[in-house]
Amino acid sequence: MKKLYLDYAATTPLCEEAFEAMRVCFADNFGNANSQHSFGREAAKTVAEARATVARVLNAEPNEIYFTSCGTESDNWALKGAALARGDAKGRIIVSATEHPAVYHSAEQLRNAGFDVCELPVDGDGLVHAEELEKAITPDTFLVSVMYANNETGAVQPVKRLAEIAHAHGALFHTDAVQAAGALPLDVKALGADMMSLSAHKFYGPKGVGALYVRNGVNLVPLIAGGEQERAKRGGTTDTPAIAGMAAALKRAYDNLDAENARVASVRDAFVAYVESNVQGAVLNGPKDPELRLPNNADFRFGGIDGEALLFALDLAGICASGGSACSSGSKEPSRTLLAMGLSPSEAKGSVRFTFGRHTDVADALYAAEQVANAVKRLRALQ
Ligand code: PLP
Repeated sequence: MKKLYLDYAATTPLCEEAFEAMRVCFADNFGNANSQHSFGREAAKTVAEARATVARVLNAEPNEIYFTSCGTESDNWALKGAALARGDAKGRIIVSATEHPAVYHSAEQLRNAGFDVCELPVDGDGLVHAEELEKAITPDTFLVSVMYANNETGAVQPVKRLAEIAHAHGALFHTDAVQAAGALPLDVKALGADMMSLSAHKFYGPKGVGALYVRNGVNLVPLIAGGEQERAKRGGTTDTPAIAGMAAALKRAYDNLDAENARVASVRDAFVAYVESNVQGAVLNGPKDPELRLPNNADFRFGGIDGEALLFALDLAGICASGGSACSSGSKEPSRTLLAMGLSPSEAKGSVRFTFGRHTDVADALYAAEQVANAVKRLRALQ
């Protein structure tokens, strides 16, 4: 049976470039990057090169890039580090209603600690409107955190505009770019981001490594207190192989960004066109405008079909997709993001996310779409 992986938003396979960069570290370049001897210096050189590569893609300075253990840590650090730097639990933090759990659970913890946390609503496509931020922002707002692209619908937020509003009111702007990285430009200066979270495993790098861009001048208290690593801002022995793998994967993704985006968008569009014309009641969740949606994302609901039953049927047919996001799988609750967009709980539970990638082509997309049509037909026959 043909097996198709259509869950690239959950994670991606390691690319050759990342694998090779990591192999060298595992095989020979195993020193502790903080050791003073030649083994340490060799590892430190690899880390410095990786930092410079990431900085180049972000149009940042190398000393503005901090390596972390994942996107979740980067998000936690951005929010809690900025809050801890205040000295007291006063002031407002604004987040959108569709943030990843790494942001909204961090915001919730800060609310429990006494901060005033405000959630921005989204429209039916999952987009934040600048006017909503204008209404919510107060003189004591010190941080606005809105994701660059959503992990369920692929909705691309107007981060540049939101950052301008945050700055006009004296607040910092953080963006979770975990889903955007590898698909959208990450120029922090053009976007106006003071902090930006990344995670390597979403762009064909290894799992368990991320980065946080922190603009020089932003005061962030360390989340992982420890030694002198990462300029004494993030303790823990440096994971040289993971960092080298992350940088190699990011470079590969941005060396070929436009061509791969166009290719994967045509794969996704073939899937969407087939499903829309062959599956009765299929509705695409999120923005229809390709400029406002990640090129690899198709998130559908199928009137009256239970998403879990459909995923199960698809898995049996060799199609690996996802209900909402991998981070909330196992949860019986409907997706917070889809509810915030105005979907009913049953519509939200009936939604399935298909995300395409480097190893899917148009023939795969059409095959998968046919399997979706068959599975929906079979499930409807059972109703
Ligand atoms: N933020 C977003 C938007 C994500 O999609 C994810 C992962 O799914 C994360 C943060 C967390 O990243 P990590 O898996 O590296 O912890």
